Amino acid sequence: MKTWVFAEARDGAAAANALEGLAKARELGGDIAVFYLGAGSNDAFAVLGDHGATSVYHLPAGESLPAPAAAAAMAELAGSEAPDLILFGMGNTERDVAGRLSVRLGRPVLANAVDITADEDGLVVTNEILGGTTRVASRSTGDGAAIVITRPKAFTAEPAGGGVPEVVAVASPDVGHAGEAGVLERHEEVAEGPDLEAADVVVSGGRGIGSGDEFEMIDRLAELLGAAVGATRAVVDAGWVPYSYQVGQTGKTVKPTIYLACAISGAMQHLVGMKDSSTIIAINKDPDAPIFGVADLGIVGDVHKVVPALIEALEARG
Ligand SMILES: Cc1cc2nc3c(=O)[nH]c(=O)nc-3n(C[C@H](O)[C@H](O)[C@H](O)COP(=O)(O)OP(=O)(O)OC[C@H]3O[C@@H](n4cnc5c(N)ncnc54)[C@H](O)[C@@H]3O)c2cc1C
Repeated sequence: MKTWVFAEARDGAAAANALEGLAKARELGGDIAVFYLGAGSNDAFAVLGDHGATSVYHLPAGESLPAPAAAAAMAELAGSEAPDLILFGMGNTERDVAGRLSVRLGRPVLANAVDITADEDGLVVTNEILGGTTRVASRSTGDGAAIVITRPKAFTAEPAGGGVPEVVAVASPDVGHAGEAGVLERHEEVAEGPDLEAADVVVSGGRGIGSGDEFEMIDRLAELLGAAVGATRAVVDAGWVPYSYQVGQTGKTVKPTIYLACAISGAMQHLVGMKDSSTIIAINKDPDAPIFGVADLGIVGDVHKVVPALIEALEARG
């Protein structure tokens, strides 16, 4: 078994989704290599080794859109190295490279994977469909690597005490016209408070909050709890908070210890992004709201009474 994990460099280190992929690769066993795209460093490579990679193929990113060159280089290497499985996270570059690699290798992409197991007939990839309500097991048949895109937080990244990996420099291939698109600017949204995807406690608000001004009570409650703020798509579409707050199928996937859902109905597209939280607490005035179906603790009541009461109690504690 030979597994490759694609890693894009972000802020000088491999993106978190690559470390999650390495956790799954270790579980499957065999040879593990990382295809690392971007500015590398001994520290960044050492982290990959600590998470189980024994070798790293390093392609520095130039000024061009990186996916065409990365996919071409990976396809060429795959011809000689013959990996059985190539894992990608769900980032934009990752999906771009996976699609291009699929065309170059003539292999399908199995996306949205939440598990990968091996049996006597090969690899079985489990993914979620219909907003996470149905699980499907698939196999990639025929010769060549299985290309799999995994859901965020499907696997828990953990160091495994591995040594320094061997680093192999990869030359950037000429990809003709495909290499002519360049990256002109990058915009980083300035975020306040804890990172939503990594936070231990998340307080999320839904349409039932009523307005952008009233949403400020969610910010205050989160501040008092040291929590990150999340929101439903209805709230984002209404312009009360930016898209970066959105939790769900087309937003972020969170897995905090506590998820507090305030005036959120519990549409399946929202649930898919938060249902794996350890403890879910829901506040909703409708006792039949679907959110109560996944909640560990439910408060049937008006969010405009319950949340201010919580804020007052927390403020009184000092
Ligand atoms: C392709 C697709 C992708 C999508 N992706 C996402 C996604 O990533 N994330 C996402 O969240 N949604 C997503 N959606 C939208 C999703 O289907 C729902 O429309 C959305 O999640 C509903 O948001 P909501 O719960 O805030 O609003 P609503 O469904 O309108 O629910 C509001 C809730 O507030 C309660 N409420 C009202 N007033 C009060 C009050 N005073 N006190 C207490 N409770 C009150 C109501 O009882 C109700 O349950 C997607 C939809 C599609 C089609």
